Amino acid sequence: MKRIPFGPELTVSQIVYGMWRLGDDADTSPAHIQAKIEACLAGGITTMDQADIYGGYTAEALLGACLKAAPHLRDDIEIVTKCDIVAPMGKYADKPVKYYDTSREHIFASVESSLWNMGLDHIDVLLIHRPDPLMDHAETGQALDDLIASGKVRTVGVSNFRPWDFDLLQSAMTNTLVTNQIELSVLAHEPFVNGDIAHLQKLGVVPMAWSPLGGGALFGDRHPALKAKVEEVAARHETDATNVALAWLLRHPSNIVPVIGTNRIDRISSAAQAADIDMDRVTWYEIYTAALGREVA
Ligand code: NAP
Repeated sequence: MKRIPFGPELTVSQIVYGMWRLGDDADTSPAHIQAKIEACLAGGITTMDQADIYGGYTAEALLGACLKAAPHLRDDIEIVTKCDIVAPMGKYADKPVKYYDTSREHIFASVESSLWNMGLDHIDVLLIHRPDPLMDHAETGQALDDLIASGKVRTVGVSNFRPWDFDLLQSAMTNTLVTNQIELSVLAHEPFVNGDIAHLQKLGVVPMAWSPLGGGALFGDRHPALKAKVEEVAARHETDATNVALAWLLRHPSNIVPVIGTNRIDRISSAAQAADIDMDRVTWYEIYTAALGREVA
């Protein structure tokens, strides 16, 4: 699988494994999580996507327990995690409202907590999870630069930022933001035309695509025409709908990095093969047309 540079010193696998749903699995044992990571590694997926809030602030610790039982895995993987969402659950159960916190104090505390939960000495990629209307870009940018200087974080990026949020934070930083993780799929394709991806391309920043299968909605019955088209293309390529939906993202010249979220080991193994599909322009537009529900203008 292709490796994608995140700054000058780090690369990630072109498909990333997301751990948002880790705690939803019936089996959250270290051995089972190890089996998932090993299935990823067998397919060339080396990058794991976490966030402090996943599983109500519990998913990082599930990964931590796995890495404690199998410490050799740490050298084979890159770990992405996120901060700034404070939701009234788990360790924040006493908060009266859900909010975002991009203050230096919160980011530093969140990083310490993530390092502790996962048993790490550094995080490979730290993302600001959602844009905070109260962000003081000078304070947040300095905090991110200082975290890199401390060695606790190797690279930083953002998630769900619009171009103006991205530029504002970047303007206050010495280090370069390495990614913007946004919702992107055949079901959420607006970023291809609303400027979000064009902005990243202009800067040479790689987009990460969360919920690349629409969080599973692609397989339900709410989008029958699109589902049928994706399945038809899958049959032509002798593959499955998952791989076609991922290959549709991989075809884009911006080097999109999809973050898959299945809990099934067979689906992890199969998805890794999406990178082998070579999708031509006409096929891409066949799927885009089905996704739009109309011919392009
Ligand atoms: P996804 O890969 O689009 O969806 C995964 C869901 O689809 C799972 O529930 C999975 O169920 C189901 N699924 C997959 N293949 C299927 C099939 N063939 N038939 C039926 N269902 C199928 O991604 P996601 O889990 O929504 O998100 C992926 C990752 O993105 C997360 O883990 C997280 O790391 C990241 N994320 C980031 C943000 C952000 O704000 N930055 C937001 C959301 C997510 P099974 O487990 O049964 O396969």
